[in-house]
Amino acid sequence: KPILFSGIQPSGSLTLGNYLGALKNWVALQDEYRGIYSVVDLHAITVRQDPAKFRQQIIRTYAILLACGIDPQKSLLFIQSQVPAHAELSWLLSCYTQFGELSRMTQFKDKSARHADNVNAGLFTYPVLMAADILLYQADVVPVGADQKQHLELSRDIAARFNGLYGDTFTVPEPYIPKIGARVMSLQEPTRKMSKSDENVNAYVAILDKPEDILRKFKRAVTDSEAQVRYAEGKDGINNLMGIYSAVTGKDYGAIEAEFDGKGYGDFKTAVGEAVVEELRPVRERFDQLMADKAYLEDCWKEGAKQASYLAERTLLKVQKRIGFVKR
Ligand code: ATP
Ligand code: MG
Repeated sequence: KPILFSGIQPSGSLTLGNYLGALKNWVALQDEYRGIYSVVDLHAITVRQDPAKFRQQIIRTYAILLACGIDPQKSLLFIQSQVPAHAELSWLLSCYTQFGELSRMTQFKDKSARHADNVNAGLFTYPVLMAADILLYQADVVPVGADQKQHLELSRDIAARFNGLYGDTFTVPEPYIPKIGARVMSLQEPTRKMSKSDENVNAYVAILDKPEDILRKFKRAVTDSEAQVRYAEGKDGINNLMGIYSAVTGKDYGAIEAEFDGKGYGDFKTAVGEAVVEELRPVRERFDQLMADKAYLEDCWKEGAKQASYLAERTLLKVQKRIGFVKR
């Protein structure tokens, strides 16, 4: 089976964007591919984290992945910081990555502008660590939302460059950008993507939000003054709600426009909210069961770290040898 790698940061409460743009696809893909999924906690410390909250957030993220349907019998699911090879390969690859390349990353420009008080070196070299995550497992495909496309392109460049210098070492990964749910936008600023690290909790729907909160957030979603449910340029808010409704119900835009013909935005927002509540209900229920069984969770991540370390070490040793380090 081809190898598929993807990761998610425990940097906040996972959102509907993460669910539709990533997790739902990860679950669907785990039969066709050898899925390797990681809670990438090393990435999350580019932003300051409170230690106690951070530890909880890592565990909760791990449990959400299981609750969404990642099956540890089929897929490898691990916590990044428990596999030291990620940090090691990241350093090695950073010496094969140019300052200019990293300077062109739009996410760095965006995040450094928004967090001007903490533009740390990790935020800058984040894409190198991401390259290490992927290349360690010789991944063939990487499902990413549109927001990660540029980073994946850089991973491919780094892999090809290293292979060019030293001979075939890394598989050059292909992007897998799902059409459905590729980009869920903020409910408050629909020109920006929905993000779990948004300071405004009304801008995103968390996977674990209570039904009444989900309904309220959709009711308050920013739309436009036209009051007609149709997909069109400039109607970013409505387009986003239609995208969400379509991803959850499987209805296409034509069917949605027909369903809400002559109805106002209020009815539409309620319908979207209710559909999302039903979609997320079983995930929340399984999450609660998992969090009540810490021993099981711990067994899972220990086994995951063991298996991931085995695979990652193999690549790391190969890379060290190619560069010319002395064997330990
Ligand atoms: P942060 O704000 O901390 O960067 P995030 O919400 O962007 O958090 P990530 O951990 O960076 O989440 O990304 C995890 C996965 O979710 C990636 O595959 C990413 O492409 C996808 N993803 C994130 N946000 C969205 C979104 N709004 N729509 C669709 N997919 C998304
Ligand atoms: Mg992100």
